[in-house]
Amino acid sequence: MAAKQTTNSPATFPTVCNLCGKADTSFITKQNSFKVVQCNLCGFVYVNPRPKPTAMKDFYIDYHRNRIGDPHMWKPYMQKIFTKSANLLERLYPQKGRLLDIGCGYGFFMEEATKRGWQAEGIDLSDDCVSFTKERGQKVTLALPEDIKEKNSFDAITMFYVLEHLPDPLSTLRTVKKLLKPGGVLLLRVPHTTPIVKLLKPMKIKNKLFDPPFHLCDFSPNTIAKMLKKAGFTHSRTMIGGGTAPPRFAPRLTSALSTTTAELLYRLSRKRYLMPGVSKTTVAKKAS
Ligand SMILES: [Zn+2]
Repeated sequence: MAAKQTTNSPATFPTVCNLCGKADTSFITKQNSFKVVQCNLCGFVYVNPRPKPTAMKDFYIDYHRNRIGDPHMWKPYMQKIFTKSANLLERLYPQKGRLLDIGCGYGFFMEEATKRGWQAEGIDLSDDCVSFTKERGQKVTLALPEDIKEKNSFDAITMFYVLEHLPDPLSTLRTVKKLLKPGGVLLLRVPHTTPIVKLLKPMKIKNKLFDPPFHLCDFSPNTIAKMLKKAGFTHSRTMIGGGTAPPRFAPRLTSALSTTTAELLYRLSRKRYLMPGVSKTTVAKKAS
């Protein structure tokens, strides 16, 4: 899949750090012909230069189908994360209410949330995902968060593996905050690839773990906390939050081992140690 995009060599443009606005970086690696850099001032990791937004749209036409061909397979792939996230939301916001899943994919988290009593709805940029989810009776729209005009309307907003795909995550988080009711909860899930890439670099092990240009940035617990604060959120907290179960055996085993280790270390450290390199769940609040 990546080969198709790199041979097209889409037009790129340089960008500044989305977190601090500066352009002082150190080179980390080059993957799929895109450079990944780290801001020397705030530590944010991002792709620079990056493809123009017009080129980006084409990348996503077959995105989900290219990752996992059968949409139904996304449910077991994400189920542990969805269950833990739904449990967490119930603890943080027991009264429930309206929930918006941004980048809802095939709608399996909305299904879980609906089952638990939320009025769930979703948005996504993929026609394929939107029609699949609609056919299953879910309320879903082909839209960006910026297209939603209902301010102070949602009790909870979820974004599973979305933020790292966005060209301006800080601006999107500010929009998301406007959509939430005062006291509403945001739940995010993002990968954290940088520590693994840095570990593999001296060994000269080639990898495409950053997955550019699909992923345009990579969050650490520290940079996600800083960005949420800058976007106006309070009470942000990051945890391991489960792991994925890929369909193929070897990646599934790797995921199970790393998640189990990460969860164990997190518990043993009394929720202080967040193992680098594994995806994490972050929650934050909009002040009442
Ligand atoms: Zn920065």
